[in-house]
Amino acid sequence: MSREDALETYRSKRDFAQSPEPPGDKGASDQDKRIWVIQKHQARNLHYDLRIEIDGVLKSWAVPKGPSTDPSVKRLATPTEDHPMDYADFEGVIPEGEYGGGTVIVWDAGRYRNLRTDEDGKEMPMPACYEDGKIEVSLAGRKLRGGYVLIRTGKDKSGRYRWLLKKIKDDQADNPVSPEPRSVLTGRTLEEVAAEEGPAG
Ligand code: MN
Repeated sequence: MSREDALETYRSKRDFAQSPEPPGDKGASDQDKRIWVIQKHQARNLHYDLRIEIDGVLKSWAVPKGPSTDPSVKRLATPTEDHPMDYADFEGVIPEGEYGGGTVIVWDAGRYRNLRTDEDGKEMPMPACYEDGKIEVSLAGRKLRGGYVLIRTGKDKSGRYRWLLKKIKDDQADNPVSPEPRSVLTGRTLEEVAAEEGPAG
């Protein structure tokens, strides 16, 4: 699928005259510089949006409870539409009444390494991992470090795929997730972004 096709749903849900979100024209990173981001999003419900660069778009999951660093804890991760690469730097206030209305900060971000290999020990391409329903990556973030696995487990009642997010047992496991609520991009909290960029700001 082309990047333009992949972003069709993203664009169709948004009115860029109303929302400060990027329409998306940034291309893929170099293979060794592929990125991931977790955005903390105060919408109707507070949740975390995990996004992983695959094939020039950010594959996305909403994780209501956010990531855990405990390998015995599985967190529900509901897939959402592919987001454009430029979304990784998006922080701001989406007006009420617009899709995803609420405040967004970049809670953590960094590069990743694909941990999945084929029988020959060669890296399994990320699009193949996604199609296969199992993604294993090592995250180099400011708050999250080390291996995480995303596993597709089946469909929910409305026919949408369910995925689970889990820490891989490694030397970074069980380090508590930083309680630091601030953006790794601008050092601001959700409340500060809302106050500065919201309708009353
Ligand atoms: Mn969201």
